[in-house]
Amino acid sequence: MNEVLLLKCGELVLKGLNRGRFEDKLLAVVRRRLAHLGRYEVYAIQSTLYVEPLDGSPVDPALEVCRKVFGIVAVCRAAVCEKDMEAVCRTATDYLKEDLAGAATFRCQAKRSDKKFPLKSPEIARDVGGALLAAYPRLKVQMEGAQVEVHIEIRDKNAFVYAKRFKGAGGMPTGSNGKALLLLSGGIDSPVAGYMMAKRGLELEAVHFFSYPYTSEQAKEKTLDLARLLAEYCGRIRVHAVPFTQIQDQIRRECQQDLFTVLMRRFMMKIAERVAKQRGCGALITGESLGQVASQTMEAIGVTNAACSLPVLRPAVGMDKEEIVAISRQIGAFETSILPYEDCCTVFTPRHPQTKPKLESVLAEEQKLDVEGLIRQAMEGIETTLCQPARSGQTDR
Ligand code: ATP
Ligand code: MG
Repeated sequence: MNEVLLLKCGELVLKGLNRGRFEDKLLAVVRRRLAHLGRYEVYAIQSTLYVEPLDGSPVDPALEVCRKVFGIVAVCRAAVCEKDMEAVCRTATDYLKEDLAGAATFRCQAKRSDKKFPLKSPEIARDVGGALLAAYPRLKVQMEGAQVEVHIEIRDKNAFVYAKRFKGAGGMPTGSNGKALLLLSGGIDSPVAGYMMAKRGLELEAVHFFSYPYTSEQAKEKTLDLARLLAEYCGRIRVHAVPFTQIQDQIRRECQQDLFTVLMRRFMMKIAERVAKQRGCGALITGESLGQVASQTMEAIGVTNAACSLPVLRPAVGMDKEEIVAISRQIGAFETSILPYEDCCTVFTPRHPQTKPKLESVLAEEQKLDVEGLIRQAMEGIETTLCQPARSGQTDR
């Protein structure tokens, strides 16, 4: 029996004038993400995307890939059959055997987009329901809260029957809201922040600051692994690794210890802003959460924020650590995030960081540094890696 995937798009996404544009974006994304799995015909009809496996290409991995595409609220796995009531009833009886054999209640819902089909939707549902009751005598019809919902769709060329509906990633299609630059550490919060903003339709690039020899090669690799995990949702991510050692060394030599972190954070924002502008990113994204650490008090965020002019999106700002961890687990990043490699921020954490830094004092400390020279040097040392979705089996660079 031939199976297809029906991808249901978010209502909002496909409304109004943007509909065509969003639909095209989604089609392009789905085609690209499936390319490494086999051959699939992907097309859209009336707010539903169809994924037809060709030449025996696998259905299960395609389903998993499609569930991670932003803009898709549900993925239905359906059997294809002829547009003929006898074939539809037979297909429903055979294909849904596993779902129906153990169930006590069901209901049928039919949709007919081919208005020339001789039966109307309620009649289709009634006939299929009758066939299922005959085949599974223990079943009862229940209109509210049935254990199994049988869907029949009569479309242009074929009819489709399904009962399995899997939750999709939701959100908006990647790139539909432009591109932003994620400040990606190897921690828990920033990958979650990137995921949250990507869900709102942002394409991502990332910067990662590393400090050889204070931070290891593994710490950088871990960050690239996190980018590959994120890429499963939002497509490939260019990660710009920025050498940060010189900056940290100079701060440590010249500046007041209690301001180390906020001085470092300001350098990060300034460099990120330059990278963002070069790469056409309209905003920065960080994983900051109000009050989580000394550098994330309202005052410290204020001083950090003053270092750049682009909007800084901080989707985790109002979240508790537990809530952030829950998303981290859900997207499969947690196990990687907690690997014990040091971050350049933690290596230089002062013993008593200033929790209420004043912008004037911080600017005065910055006067002691060759800010422009340090930034230029860091920018020159950037190494860029193109991170592909973790499970695609494709190579980087
Ligand atoms: P995370 O879990 O994301 O590392 P955190 O709670 O450890 O966050 P900080 O270390 O203060 O908090 O960092 C705050 C934010 O600054 C991070 O969420 C991230 O966006 C950015 N950041 C921190 N370190 C780096 C780094 N090495 N490279 C790029 N961005 C960084
Ligand atoms: Mg961190």
